[in-house]
Amino acid sequence: MAQIHVLDKHTAELIAAGEVVERPASVAKELLENAIDAGATQITLSIRRGGIEQLQIIDNGSGIESDSIENAFVRHATSKIATAADLAHIHTLGFRGEALASIASVARVELLTKSDVDEFACLYRIEGGEPRGFEPAARPRGTTITVNDLFYNTPARMKFLKKDVSEGTFVSEAVLHAALSHPEISFRFLRDGKQQFVTPGDGSLRSAAYAVLGREFARDLLEVAGESGVYKVTGLITPPRACRGSRSAQHFYVNGRYVKNRTMMAGLENAYKGTVMQGRFPGAVLMLELPADLVDVNVHPAKTEIRFARESDVFDAVYRAVRAALAAPGSGECRFQLGHTEPEPAQAPAPAPAARPAPAPAAPARPASAAAQPQKHFATLSASEFRALHTLTDPLPARRVPGLNAPAVPDTIRLESVPTTGPESELDILPDAPQQEPAAFPAEAAGALDSLPDARGRTLPDAMQQALDRLEPAPQPPAPADQAEETRDPGGLSALPDPEQQTFAPAPASAPLRLVGEVFRTYIITEREGELCLIDKHAAHERILFEQLSEHYGNVPAQMLLVPVQVNLSAEEKQAVMEHLDLLGDAGIEAEDYGGATVLVRAVPADVPVEDVTDMLLELADRLKNGGGDALREKTEWVLHSIACRAAIKAGDRTNAREMVALAQKILDGTVPPFCPHGRPCVLKITRKELEKQFGRLV
Ligand code: ADP
Ligand code: MG
Repeated sequence: MAQIHVLDKHTAELIAAGEVVERPASVAKELLENAIDAGATQITLSIRRGGIEQLQIIDNGSGIESDSIENAFVRHATSKIATAADLAHIHTLGFRGEALASIASVARVELLTKSDVDEFACLYRIEGGEPRGFEPAARPRGTTITVNDLFYNTPARMKFLKKDVSEGTFVSEAVLHAALSHPEISFRFLRDGKQQFVTPGDGSLRSAAYAVLGREFARDLLEVAGESGVYKVTGLITPPRACRGSRSAQHFYVNGRYVKNRTMMAGLENAYKGTVMQGRFPGAVLMLELPADLVDVNVHPAKTEIRFARESDVFDAVYRAVRAALAAPGSGECRFQLGHTEPEPAQAPAPAPAARPAPAPAAPARPASAAAQPQKHFATLSASEFRALHTLTDPLPARRVPGLNAPAVPDTIRLESVPTTGPESELDILPDAPQQEPAAFPAEAAGALDSLPDARGRTLPDAMQQALDRLEPAPQPPAPADQAEETRDPGGLSALPDPEQQTFAPAPASAPLRLVGEVFRTYIITEREGELCLIDKHAAHERILFEQLSEHYGNVPAQMLLVPVQVNLSAEEKQAVMEHLDLLGDAGIEAEDYGGATVLVRAVPADVPVEDVTDMLLELADRLKNGGGDALREKTEWVLHSIACRAAIKAGDRTNAREMVALAQKILDGTVPPFCPHGRPCVLKITRKELEKQFGRLV
């Protein structure tokens, strides 16, 4: 057997250093953390040749007392913890006392520091772990650490480094992570003498994000602020339409520490389900704060991997906070992008190149559900533009997430069908539509909408009424004076009661909305404040119903079927349905075992047409069967999607003017997110300016 040697100190040091110092970026990370821990308010990091030749960091923190300098470079020497018990309550970024020792063993290091207790600054040199002595020096309070010739004594390690440019980029990311987690500190980063970014240090995450991630990223970000028990989640996320092709824009922090964490990632991405296209990922800067004893940061020397005591609580906290942020008005919508118009300067980058051929002339009506990959053709409208256009009322409270929240009291939900008997004109104008000339559509009248049947005998659910109820009584905005002229229809329909002139103004400051009409029995056309909006009525109604169902999950009123529907399933499908009877019941579907392979459906949520019951159950059975491992919440969402989809008015259905106005209003005011539960947009917009450019009125 070979002899066993105890390695000499130097070799042992190098091995240990390898864990902490892998590349220049790891040096940067450790030194940045030290500066942050030292209470600095200004930190400058500069590199030469990707940080390999030199990496220097200057801070205005506490400095190191001259007596402690040598100790600071001893392995496991730290001022941050004293006993093992302290490991359970770590409030600083560093605590292992390894960084300076490790860095000094693989580079030539100079430390220039001045603390409040020392009269002079002190310069200390250490090379390859060998102290080279002290010199008195001068500098104000703080510390400058210069790391030269990294890995000069470990050629093997040197070989694994990438090109200078790549190493420099890793360093840049380390500074970026530090800067985002500490917006109250001003970070400056220089690469080969050139300033790359500087954050203002004004305490605002948005301005830090603006400085380091760029204007395009920071412009539209939605604010996250949620608390679930002891967990606090804050930060910024991209709106669904600005999601990107990779996860590179996801930055997670736990108690101020940048981490890589799958639980937080899953919470984030699950919250976007139904709002983003497949293969696209949200961007986020998400901070989780929780009691230090619920997280173990001492998993790996690099400290980017952590362990949570309760993973599912973390998932839920992130999920809820992000869902709530996404439910905020104006969180996403699409805008027409016409072929040769230049993208507006303030516009976020479209996922596809800006210049693309004009879309083909409108295709014949097709079911909304067939609108594949619509986002390819549209640019985006920023949340701020959206808000500016429609000054919105109070943000919505956090949405109820099925499976997470206590069920709501079913006081107002009504999806009941009302049999249609009323006459309908060619234009689907309601017999009692207001006859007078352009007038604001009184908010009180909206309450009547839910009793107005459409061609299929359905009513618009009174989600809209609920939204109205939430609003303060407010003066109606005056209808634009020129509206009478504008709305004259050259088609000679003026003899008819003119639904096109209705304006509808539930939101106090929101501009009046004018219904222009409908095309292909699929898209509602409206005009408001110089914007033309096309609304996919099925998608919009589906989203509204979905929100209502989620809100009332647990108490969704079921409608007993006159004749129960028998559905034949495979044994597996039946098994899946039987296992989820409670879930279905909470969503308003009452089913029971009918022996053999048959399930009897006795009741479904109101508005689900009887002829759709079989298909709906088959679809649900299939999903429940295949989605064995999925969370209850996810299954619940499917069920609600499925119901909402069946209950919603379809492309091709007749829709009366009031229903169109109500749908449009709700979608355009941001009361519900403007994309259907499957992530397709409900709204496309074009501004007057854009249109005029197309017609050559504007250049
Ligand atoms: P740790 O950060 O885990 O304590 P380090 O090896 O990174 O270990 O640093 C050792 C000690 O040196 C720290 O505990 C701290 O007291 C001191 N120190 C390091 N960098 C700085 C700095 N920039 N300003 C003030 N003190 C510092
Ligand atoms: Mg440290």
